[in-house]
This record gives sequence, structure tokens and C-alpha cells, in this order.
Amino acid sequence: MFRLSQNQLKIIEECPRKFQHGYLELLASTTSPEQQEKLTWGSQFHLLMQQREIGLPIEFIIKQDPDMGRCVAALIDTAPELFVTDLETSNRTFRQAEHRCTLIFQDYLFTAIYDLLIAEPNAAQIIDWKTYPRPQKSERICHSWQTRLYLYLLVETSDYSPEQISMTYWFVQLRGEEAPQKLTFTYDRAQHDRTKQDLTQLLQKLTQWRQQYIDRGEFFPQVDISAHRCDSCQFATRCDRISSTQKIRF
Ligand code: SF4
Repeated sequence: MFRLSQNQLKIIEECPRKFQHGYLELLASTTSPEQQEKLTWGSQFHLLMQQREIGLPIEFIIKQDPDMGRCVAALIDTAPELFVTDLETSNRTFRQAEHRCTLIFQDYLFTAIYDLLIAEPNAAQIIDWKTYPRPQKSERICHSWQTRLYLYLLVETSDYSPEQISMTYWFVQLRGEEAPQKLTFTYDRAQHDRTKQDLTQLLQKLTQWRQQYIDRGEFFPQVDISAHRCDSCQFATRCDRISSTQKIRF
């Protein structure tokens, strides 16, 4: 069984060769100190929210990072409904931070980890904390594999119909005095069927590329150069996709 994440689906769609280098040949990707700092902040925020959800004290972390404490306080202030459970419905509500959901599709194992899942008898919300600013346009995040896969997995592994679930991204890192912002995506049967179809086609291609790579050493296809993805890709030299102007710079 081959494990796949939403991030890997994104890479396969953007450039199959990048998936080959990164995940079959395990060539290391580089992370700049600035990216690393953002990743660390993000994982600490997620840990903090998980601790808070299970009732562990979080004051110590907040004391160490007052900026993070300010973001948590602003989130609780802006979206109290996420944190206060109505006593009347609390017995019928399932809440879990870092809720894991897995599904086998063709020969692939998918796992989604929901930052927070709030499930009631007739509705369920997937909550995801994002530690970067809210994008100006929502289309990209709406059509991202994270949104599509997370919603798909929940329907496939529960009794909810697509129309009963939603996914909300909260952009929690504050810029100045701005309050945290959110983007909510609803779901329906047509989207669910489309995701199933797209996933089926993408995985069929992946299986074929993997087989050709194993059997005959054939490389995965490269993205068309006109897409300009290679300019910022760490494998540009390996793929001979460095532009001539970059090559003659000594
Ligand atoms: S350099 Fe271009 S072709 Fe090569 S892996 Fe990166 S995006 Fe794909």
C-alpha cells in the first residue's frame, strides 16, 4: 500500500517528475531559515490548540511566546462558537483536535488529520488553522487538494451526506490590529462525484508512471516549461531546466 497525502497529490498534478524526485528518489528538499521559522511557529500553534482542546494548561507556552498568545486570544474572541459547547447539545457533539481519518482508494492509503472536527447529529465541520495571511482570492484554496480530499474523506468514512459537511480555514496569524479571518467551503454531491472522478484519473496515471519507472526506469513526465514552475524548483539543475541566463552566471 502506497501512502499519499494531499500535498503529494498537489505535486503530482503540478509536475509528476517533481514527485518522482521528492518521494520515490527521496531527494531532500531545502528549507530556508525563514521558512523553517514559519513552520516551527505553525506547528507550535497547532500543538497549543490541541492542548487547549484536551484541557491541558497552555499558559506556559503563551508566556514564552506572547505573540502566539495574542493570536490565540484573538481567535477565541472572534470565533467563540468554536470553543464554547452549548450544554444542551454537548452530549450529542463529538469534538476532537487532530482527528485522523483514513481511506484506501485504489492501491493508495490516504490520511487526513483535521485540526479540529466538530460533529453533530446532522452536520459536521472540519476546522483547519492556517498560519499565513488569508489569500485575496479564495478559488485556489477552494480547489486545492487539501479542501477536496478532506471533505471527500469525511463523507466516505462517515454517514454524513456531502451537503451536511463544511470545511473552514481560520487564518490565525495577526497582521497589526486585524482580527483572524476565515474562509468556509460548503460541499455537495456534484463536488463529491467530481473529486472521485479526478482522484481516480490521477491515481491511474500515477500507478502507470510508477510501474514504468520500476519496470523500465522510465522517468515521470515533466511539466511543460511554459508553466514557469521550473524557475523556482529545487530540481531545476537535475532536470536541465535552468534558463541560459542563469547558467552563464559565474
Ligand atoms: S525542474 Fe521543472 S520539470 Fe523538473 S521537477 Fe522541477 S518543476 Fe518538474
